[in-house]
Amino acid sequence: GAGFDPEQARRDVPILHRTVNGHPLVWFDNGATTQKPRQVIEALASYYGSANSNIHRGAHTLAREATEAYEEGRATVARFLGAASPDSVVFTRGTTEAVNLVAQTWGRANLGPGDEILVPVLEHHSNIVPWQMIAKERRARVVPVPLRADGSIDQDAFADLLSFRTRLVAVSHASNVLGTVPPVRRMTALAHRYGAKVLVDGAQAVAHFPVDVTESDADFYVFSGHKLYAPTGIGALYAKPDLLAGMAPWQGGGNMIDTVDFGRVTFAPVPHCFEAGTGHISGVVGLKAAIDWLTSFGREAVAAYETGLLEYAQQALAAVPGLAVLGSAPGRIAVLTFTLAGVDPADIARRLDQEGIAVRAGHHCAQPALRAYGLEAAARASLALYNTAEEVDRLVAALLRLRRDI
Ligand code: PMP
Repeated sequence: GAGFDPEQARRDVPILHRTVNGHPLVWFDNGATTQKPRQVIEALASYYGSANSNIHRGAHTLAREATEAYEEGRATVARFLGAASPDSVVFTRGTTEAVNLVAQTWGRANLGPGDEILVPVLEHHSNIVPWQMIAKERRARVVPVPLRADGSIDQDAFADLLSFRTRLVAVSHASNVLGTVPPVRRMTALAHRYGAKVLVDGAQAVAHFPVDVTESDADFYVFSGHKLYAPTGIGALYAKPDLLAGMAPWQGGGNMIDTVDFGRVTFAPVPHCFEAGTGHISGVVGLKAAIDWLTSFGREAVAAYETGLLEYAQQALAAVPGLAVLGSAPGRIAVLTFTLAGVDPADIARRLDQEGIAVRAGHHCAQPALRAYGLEAAARASLALYNTAEEVDRLVAALLRLRRDI
C-alpha cells in the first residue's frame, strides 16, 4: 500500500523547525503531549477570528455556526473511534476527566461493598486513582493485575482474577511507559462473560493506530486531544448508548438541563446532560482539525511507519553500552523508556536537552509500572509520526557522548 512520508507531516508542524540550545529541536516527548500542525493552529485562529460564539442558545448566526462546528466535532470523534452514533460521545477536558466522570457516575451507582475493579499494574495514575477514590467511598476494591517481565499484562493472572465480583476492568489501550498494547478485544470478551464492564484508556493509542470501539466492544473509551495533535483541555468519553442512558449526570449547571425550577429539574438528553457549563468549543474545533489531519495520512500507514521507526530505534539504542529499554512485548507503540547504568534519568534528560533533544525523565505518572522493574525513575523517548530515523541517530549519538563523558 501507499507508504507514509514523515516529511509530509513535518512540513505542517511549525514548532519542529525551531532550535533549542542551538540545535534543531528533536521532539521525543510525544507521550506527554504532541506538537500541533498548522491546520490545527489555523482552525483555532479562524474560529476565534470569524466564528466565535457560545453554543446551543441564542437565535443568531454565529451561535448557529459555533453549534454546528461543535456538533461536527462530535460526529468526527464518533467516526474516528468507530462509534455508531455521535450521541455516544461526551466532550471532557481529557482522559483524566473522562475517567473521573465514569468513576463518579457509573461507578457510584454500580459499585458496592466487596465489588472489584481490575486494574493492570502498568496503568497511568489517572486510570488508578479515580478508581481508588470511588472504591473507598463504595467499599469496593481495586485489584492490580500483574505484568510479565516483557511488560505485557499477565493474561493467565487476569483470567484468574476475573470473577462475578468483578464490576469493571480499567485497562490502557497502550502503556505510556512500556508501550504495551494489550489484547483489549479478548480481555473485553472475557470480562463480559462475568458481566463486568470494560473502560479502555486510549490516551496513548489514538495517535498511533486505528481504534474501533464497535469491533473491540469496549464499554467506555477515553482519550485526550493533546496527545493527538490537538489542543490541551479537550478530550472525549465514548460510552455505549445503554450505559450512557443509565448514568446520572455528574456536574450540574447550564447546558445540561432541560427545565429548572426550585421544585424540580429535568436534564438535557444524552450526551448534553454530561456537558455542564460552556464547553471548550475552540478545543473541539481544533480536535476535529487534528483528526482530519491525522486521518488524511491513513492511520494504517502511520502505524506501519511508527512500528518501523520503533524497530530502528531499538536496534540503534542497543549500541549504547549500559542502556536498557523497559518492555519488549510484541506489537508495542513507539515508546522507549530506558535507563543508562550509573546515570540519573534526570541527568540524561538535561544532557539531551543541551543538544536540543526533548525526552522526559521521572516516573511518568505510572509509579507501579516502574516499581515492577525496581525503578523509581527512567528516561523516556516517545515517538510520533513526524519523527525520523535521523532524529533517532541524533539521540543515539548524544547518548554515546554522554556515556563517554562520565
Ligand atoms: N492515560 C495514559 C495512558 C496517559 O499516557 C495519560 C497522559 N500521560 C493519561 C492517561 C492522562 O491524560 P491527561 O493528562 O491528558 O488527562
